[in-house]
Amino acid sequence: MNPPLILDGRELSRKIREDIRLQIEDYLSRGFRRPGLAVILVGDDPASQIYVKNKIKACRKVGIVSFLYQLGVRTTTQELLDLIAELNSREEVDGILVQLPLPEGIDQREVILSINPSKDVDGFHPENMGKLVARMEEGFIPCTPLGIDLLLRHYGIDVRGKDVVIVGAGFIVGRPLALLMLWRDATVTVCHIHTKDLRKFTRSAEVLVSATGVPGLIKEDMVAEGSVVIDVGISRVEGKIVGDVDFEGVRHKVSAITPVPGGVGPMTVTGLLLNTLKAYRRRVRP
Ligand code: NAD
Repeated sequence: MNPPLILDGRELSRKIREDIRLQIEDYLSRGFRRPGLAVILVGDDPASQIYVKNKIKACRKVGIVSFLYQLGVRTTTQELLDLIAELNSREEVDGILVQLPLPEGIDQREVILSINPSKDVDGFHPENMGKLVARMEEGFIPCTPLGIDLLLRHYGIDVRGKDVVIVGAGFIVGRPLALLMLWRDATVTVCHIHTKDLRKFTRSAEVLVSATGVPGLIKEDMVAEGSVVIDVGISRVEGKIVGDVDFEGVRHKVSAITPVPGGVGPMTVTGLLLNTLKAYRRRVRP
């Protein structure tokens, strides 16, 4: 088989982010303020610190102002709710992002519920999740599913009528992605830790997405010949970032595949920038 098409999230992100930068420049030239994103990081999880740093850097490059709130591991739910209430009412804050996971003891559900849905650029508030179910364009789609959808579309991979199998039913990726793929008229199967015969499902996939965080879960004998493989997983193994998919093992069998790093990761950050621009645009109403 021919070498697979590498679905390059870095390259596509560069293009989309340049477009976002130009749009913001245009707003500024017409006298509008810059878009603003508040980022809340609680505790000292090293992976979360890296993600937040990357998001803030990406904001700066396109002209979005970020307001970083770094809170100690002992922060209470109430303190976090008070901060979010303040940010909900601040004019220059268009989007609010609370980096997950939160330390134990903080009520994540209450925190997500407290974000004004019109500033919920992560798309985790039930109002935005509900809009995803209802196919209402005005909601915010969670950043990773949004990024995957953009990547598929960019490479001309139309999922309509296709068998899309998602491994991982997490709240951040698997579940909202399943809804988005249904929106795109795919036939969607969602597998998870309790799925009895994972291989039976993954082998039937025309588009296989893995979002579990289990390195090397998807092996050569688990993918169909000619399928498209999207690897969402991010794990650190011996100091290296790896995905869920045994890339070297499956690459000769598939028609297209995302690399890790450089595939879904940058597209997730691009999704965040797009959602922040969307929130801003709605608020400044040019
Ligand atoms: P999660 O813990 O919420 O969900 C994991 C899911 O995987 C669960 O549904 C679980 O049942 C399933 N699972 C675990 N082990 C399994 C197995 N052996 N077989 C089948 N299913 C299994 O995690 P999440 O927040 O959805 O994140 C999943 C992965 O995606 C993590 O590695 C995370 O770092 C990564 N992630 C990457 C990006 C990105 O931008 N690339 C963004 C978000 C999350």
